Amino acid sequence: MRCLKKKMSQVFSLTQRYKRTLQAMAAGVFLIYMTLVLYQNVYGYSSGSNGQELQYGTADPAAVEPENVIAKRDNSVNSVNGNSHVINSVSGAVQRPSSPASYPTRFDKAYYDYQNGQLSVTGTPKPPTTELDDLLISVKTTKGYHDTRLEMIIKTWYQLAKEQTWFFTDTNDQHYQKLTNGHMVNTNCSQGHFRKALCCKMGKEYEFFLDSAKRWWCHFDDDNYVNVPRLVRLLDEYSPTQDWYLGKPSISSPLEIFLDNTKSSAEVNKKVTFWFATGGAGFCISRALALKMLPIASSGKFMAIGDKIRFPDDVTMGFIIEHILNVPLTVVDAFHSHLEPMEFIRPETFHDQVSFSYARMKNEWNVVKVDGFDLKTDPKRIYSLHCHLYPFFSICPKTIKRR
Ligand code: UDP
Ligand code: MN
Repeated sequence: MRCLKKKMSQVFSLTQRYKRTLQAMAAGVFLIYMTLVLYQNVYGYSSGSNGQELQYGTADPAAVEPENVIAKRDNSVNSVNGNSHVINSVSGAVQRPSSPASYPTRFDKAYYDYQNGQLSVTGTPKPPTTELDDLLISVKTTKGYHDTRLEMIIKTWYQLAKEQTWFFTDTNDQHYQKLTNGHMVNTNCSQGHFRKALCCKMGKEYEFFLDSAKRWWCHFDDDNYVNVPRLVRLLDEYSPTQDWYLGKPSISSPLEIFLDNTKSSAEVNKKVTFWFATGGAGFCISRALALKMLPIASSGKFMAIGDKIRFPDDVTMGFIIEHILNVPLTVVDAFHSHLEPMEFIRPETFHDQVSFSYARMKNEWNVVKVDGFDLKTDPKRIYSLHCHLYPFFSICPKTIKRR
């Protein structure tokens, strides 16, 4: 009986010990849990966050710091006029952020776009990489148009790109040479509106660009108004190290020409089809493409090709680029020649246009419809257009300054 009692007390004390051990373990677990809860409250993990965000958030606190990200977003709107989606996707420069810290965070509007599948949008937008000084703007002109067309350019848009713009003419003109600080180039091409003279000037413009260190070449006629900041913004969408031929055709289908090359029987009456950018609207060519054209079009060969196909300078350009080099024209609607009705360009879109033009058609002017100077003072509407875009210019009357 005594033996049984002893055994019973042994079993009882064993159970008690187990119970105490269990209690101690439970207290330990509770303590660890409480420590974790306390830690979480202090350092604040965001609820429902995925592993990725948590990891980037802790690795780089700046990446999830709200003000920081909002500031970046605002920059993107300013730098590309609210068009960052297009800019990034066209340039191809920023398709996906490369470093974890540059991923959009949940504080950023871009994050929601990102979630919606627009992968080209990032929290850190691409900064503008093209500057005015990356451009060479060449303007084709002739002796007879210096006073009637050049003067107007020099008083208006030329002032926004004085260092970058050069005039290609066919005479020495001391007056305009002085006004442009030596930016008049006498091409020694013949005067006259015929193919040889026009191709000669275009060839000189092209070779002048090759000799420069610029990334972009943009050609315009002397009856173009160039919206300089918009032109720079346009080029910023593309890479000068890739082949780009930007402009606008004025025909609705590609040009078909028949090659009449007597030297090669295989080429006789061969039909070729290509697009070309209308010279009178302006066009731009990247340095990469200009270099690709070098064996075909440099050292006077541009003119030779014009002679061969017997078409004007802008057609010759399209023939070389589209037909020979197989680089397609990228159509940019913001270029405008006087082959389209200027009055249909709405004033609220003026800032978005790259170029404008004017022409006298029979007894009527094909000109931009814009308020400003009276018709007698400004029949071509170029001064008025300029003052609409840049009202604080000294030539603009105080009454139409609106910004
Ligand atoms: N042009 C030229 N030599 C001429 C006539 C015109 O170099 O004898 C240039 C002119 O300065 C302009 C372009 O060719 O840049 C187109 O000329 P215009 O506007 O007179 O004619 P369009 O071809 O537009 O009808
Ligand atoms: Mn013209």
